[in-house]
Amino acid sequence: MAHIFFDHISTTPVDPRVIEAMLPYFGEKYGNPASHIHDLGQTALRSLDAARGSVARMVGAQPGEIVFTSGATEANNLAIKGAAAGSKDRRHIIVSEVEHFSVLNALLPLRASGFETTVLHVDHDGRVDPDDVRKAIRPDTLLVSVMHANAEIGTIQPVSEIGRIARERGVLFHTDATASAGHIPVDVEAIGADLLTLSAHNFYGPKGIGAIYVRKGTRLESMLDGGFQEGGYRAGTENVPGIVGMAAAAEIAMAESVGWADRLAPLGRQLWDGLEASIPLLHFTGHPKERLPGHVSFWVEHAEGESLLLLLNMQGVMAASGSACSSNLRGHDEEDLVASTVLKAIGVPSDICTGSVTFSMGKDNTGADVAHVLSVLPAIVSRLREMSPTWLDYQKQQGG
Ligand code: PMP
Repeated sequence: MAHIFFDHISTTPVDPRVIEAMLPYFGEKYGNPASHIHDLGQTALRSLDAARGSVARMVGAQPGEIVFTSGATEANNLAIKGAAAGSKDRRHIIVSEVEHFSVLNALLPLRASGFETTVLHVDHDGRVDPDDVRKAIRPDTLLVSVMHANAEIGTIQPVSEIGRIARERGVLFHTDATASAGHIPVDVEAIGADLLTLSAHNFYGPKGIGAIYVRKGTRLESMLDGGFQEGGYRAGTENVPGIVGMAAAAEIAMAESVGWADRLAPLGRQLWDGLEASIPLLHFTGHPKERLPGHVSFWVEHAEGESLLLLLNMQGVMAASGSACSSNLRGHDEEDLVASTVLKAIGVPSDICTGSVTFSMGKDNTGADVAHVLSVLPAIVSRLREMSPTWLDYQKQQGG
């Protein structure tokens, strides 16, 4: 049976070169970088410094501006809560409505403690209008947080424009580059970011390790009480094997990601065109052009998203449901438990949309994988529609 992984947006396979780089740090190189009076500690500290340099280079930063965290969730929490705690008198934060929940939910305790938030709407393609950011900034605005790319619908935000506006108005700009880093160019200067979130497992590195870029001079309070690791921003003994793995993945991405994108963008286009030609009443989500390479997301009328994914899995194709990560929300409307907040934000009608599909290709996918998906998906949709009462009604209507 086929074995096609089209869910790289949820995680990527660890590159064998990354595993190789990490292995000694689970074995003989077990030192703690904070205890560097001896050789083993020195080895760990040197590796940590080198890794910081690699991750910094990947995003155009200085090594001292990289703080390693347990992943993107922690980095986003640190960006939002740390900036709020570091603020003297500004108590207003602006985010977009399509941010990951590690940004949206990080606002909940801040609101409870008196911070005000503006949640910006996005357009039909999931894009924030930079002009809306300009209008939302107030004299007491502390931070704007708009993600670089959305995992669910693939849309890339106009972050450079937003960063420029924030800079002009003296407001901090955070961008969550979890879905984009290692795939498309991410440069903290070009974006104008003061804070930027990274996650290793999204670019062929290990899970449980990420980083936040903190522009020199940015006021950010640590969220963990403890030791003085990571420049005082993040207490706790560093995950040295993970950090070494993240750095190896960063080096590989710097050398190869332009080639991956050049190959994946046409494959994504091929899949998009093939779906458009073979499945009626299919609606793509996200921006048609400003999107991650190899990312194709959509929903189909009269075919339930989750069933579609289960049947695809039976054909050896693993993909994601857009609404999967939207259940179990804290502090959000009951209605949100059903429909994905991102799909709602872009105006997908919740009465006819019963779940979306996100196909996200990775560096090892091929044209044959796309051809396989295109050969099985139309029949799966037809099969689901045959079981759907709404499809029967629709056909009756069409027949007069
Ligand atoms: N930000 C974005 C844009 C994401 O897509 C995700 C999920 N991969 C996260 C943050 C959280 O990442 P993690 O669960 O690895 O901490």
